[in-house]
Amino acid sequence: MTAVVKPAQIVAVKGFRDVLPDESARWRLIEAEAFEIFSRYSFEEIRLPMAEKTELFARSIGTETDIVEKEMYTFTDRGGTSITLRPEATASVVRAAIEHGLITADRERRLFYCGPMFRRERPQKGRFRQFYQIGAEVLGRDDPVVDAEIIILLRDLLDRVAARGVRLELNSLGDGRCRPTYREHLRSFAAARRERLCANCQRRLERNTLRILDCKEPQCREEMAGAPVVVDHLCVPCADHLASVRRLLDGAGVSVDLNPRIVRGLDYYCRTAFEITAEGLGSQNAIGGGGRYDELVAALGGPPVAGIGFAIGLERLAMVTEAPTAELPRTAVFIAPLGDEAWATGLAVATELRAAGRRVELAAGRRSLRALMRQADRTGARHVLIIGVDELTSGRGTVRDMERKADHPLSVDLGATGGELAAQITRLGGTAT
Ligand SMILES: [Zn+2]
Ligand SMILES: [Zn+2]
Repeated sequence: MTAVVKPAQIVAVKGFRDVLPDESARWRLIEAEAFEIFSRYSFEEIRLPMAEKTELFARSIGTETDIVEKEMYTFTDRGGTSITLRPEATASVVRAAIEHGLITADRERRLFYCGPMFRRERPQKGRFRQFYQIGAEVLGRDDPVVDAEIIILLRDLLDRVAARGVRLELNSLGDGRCRPTYREHLRSFAAARRERLCANCQRRLERNTLRILDCKEPQCREEMAGAPVVVDHLCVPCADHLASVRRLLDGAGVSVDLNPRIVRGLDYYCRTAFEITAEGLGSQNAIGGGGRYDELVAALGGPPVAGIGFAIGLERLAMVTEAPTAELPRTAVFIAPLGDEAWATGLAVATELRAAGRRVELAAGRRSLRALMRQADRTGARHVLIIGVDELTSGRGTVRDMERKADHPLSVDLGATGGELAAQITRLGGTAT
């Protein structure tokens, strides 16, 4: 006889985790608030695939970024195509909008999404390799009003989920006209410190100078602390745009701090860039951000229309919200059939009550009434419907009101239809004192 070997347990992949019922119930509340806000601002939902051609992210996010260089889940599928699990959703939204003709030069589109993204980062507090984002994009608008509107929407959303200690920070990244001049200033500043920068930054110096400001190496941060900032080098239209956004936000009573150090780690941003930071999350305190990307749609083969959007990390938002702990729904009726003969009636009654909108739990197995009552107690059910031999014979089930600990069992007509049955149970529960 061979020994029985217990199979080894399989656990989740590092950085990938399960969202268990207590947490998912809270997420659902946050998502519901977000969806409500999106609706008020005339956004429509788009559901996107998890995987895209790798080229989409290389072309939009930029090949010199940490995301594309180090963090993407990229693989070659059996057909030989290079595929990547989406590290963010803006590129996908734009790709989908172009592919389905959602944007034309004279029509704006407002789209929101919610779902998992994938980046192979070092796992740390509130950061996972599969993480969730709620985000929105407006395509086809280049005016400062929409920038202000997006930031006001964010403020609404943060207020609505009672996010604690969050701040909105704003910057301008300039555009194709003024950024090259700024880049030259930055390049000479960095070149003077070349030897003290990390190998990556030395390489970025010529090819992608702005990215040096994004480096997370402490010595690079220190060296670049006094570097010139782009807001000091904006062209007149970019400066006007930023001034308008700030004036509009002021007028709307939304407080935003100017932070010239915001660079955003993606190539496609221009002009307005913003971040949401929260207290108590350590050095990586951003919970979301976004900005304007006026060249992206055209760069991905679409019409020359502007765009702006944002994304918030759901895990990190949940960490700073005081949204009420979601109450898991409570079982209304626990059905306790005693013995095999009662199972069919139990199932029929459960189906009737569920059709009438009640949350029902149906016990099975051959257990004593005492064991069933203990089980019912654990579910927090208000009513227990007992179906034993006597009940089957008479066609009248016995109801026990768990809240009032009713000593005198009351009975209901087992042959009644769902609504009637539910009404009988509720009525009995209400009067059994
Ligand atoms: Zn560096
Ligand atoms: Zn400019």
